[in-house]
Amino acid sequence: MASAQRHSTPDLVRQRNPAGVSGLSLGLTSSEFAGLHEGAVPDVTYRELFFPHADPPRRLQNWARSRGVRLRTLTRIGRDQGGRSEKMLFGLHDGYAVESVLIRRFDGHTACISSQVGCAFACRFCASGQAGLMRNLEAGEIVEQVVRLGPKVNRIVFMGIGEPLNNYQQVLKAIRILRDRQGMNFPTTGITLSTIGIPKALKQLREEHLAINLTISLHATTQEVRDRLIPGARKHPLGEVVERACAWARRHNRPVTFAYLVLPGINDSIADARRLAAMLRDSPARVNLMRWNPVDGVGLQRTPDRSLAHFRTTLENALVPVVVRDTQGRDISAACGQLWLRDLKGLPVGNRPRQGRMT
Ligand code: SF4
Repeated sequence: MASAQRHSTPDLVRQRNPAGVSGLSLGLTSSEFAGLHEGAVPDVTYRELFFPHADPPRRLQNWARSRGVRLRTLTRIGRDQGGRSEKMLFGLHDGYAVESVLIRRFDGHTACISSQVGCAFACRFCASGQAGLMRNLEAGEIVEQVVRLGPKVNRIVFMGIGEPLNNYQQVLKAIRILRDRQGMNFPTTGITLSTIGIPKALKQLREEHLAINLTISLHATTQEVRDRLIPGARKHPLGEVVERACAWARRHNRPVTFAYLVLPGINDSIADARRLAAMLRDSPARVNLMRWNPVDGVGLQRTPDRSLAHFRTTLENALVPVVVRDTQGRDISAACGQLWLRDLKGLPVGNRPRQGRMT
């Protein structure tokens, strides 16, 4: 997290923010918005701030100018379209970039959004983790990704770049802004927080009055294998991660999902399947078994179907609910961070090839 401090908000943004609240208007809660008007009748409504287009209406722009707030801070600098998925690369005000993915379903759209620029956890299977953590996203930058992905979004998953519980305050603020009835009025039951499961943060999350969904990236049944796959989580005992996640589930009366990426020769043995079943038997939990989605430069293999079938049967026999996750977005490299990493490597994204921090 130390590196998250390296790039503070530039003075330019602060100067545009005489009101003293977050310079990013989509990072305003409705009470902060009301505070901007100091008892006067606002000339725009809070809901209008979430207008989905990159260029908001003139009246809104005039209001923003007069109040010194920035309505939009993300610039779309790349786009990669697959079958039902579309990946966007958004440039940030300080030259960094994050990615968001839109997945079209028959009954709405899912927004897969980022919570940090890069990630400190260095998961072996993830492109984002290979570049390290640059900084946390502001709540407004998180909310704006959803807004920019369009009005048909009715599910949000924090599965893009970054570990959301490592940016706890801003992620929770963004969720509260998204669900505010005076604004987007997004149902919290449509929001899924996907995390490697930081025990201390899970304890805190248990006490929040938020009916979100929780997914824990488990990926191992022994500490040794998990430490290898998720080096940044070495200080998190596997048993405590599972225990805290299940405590959250009991408190909120909703199951927690454990994601398990099945990797041949690493975590797909019969013993692994049995340990996983034993760990989650009689718990308020379900399992998503995932196939590996190959990433350039990461030497991991896609698992054979028979390994997945074996895992599934073992869990089913232990009465642990299990599904094999659809690899939506595989056609556009939608595993988290891949487009971003390609960009870091200097391969062209859209019309603007860049390397690392944009200038
Ligand atoms: S999988 Fe998630 S936690 Fe792991 S490095 Fe990637 S973004 Fe970070």
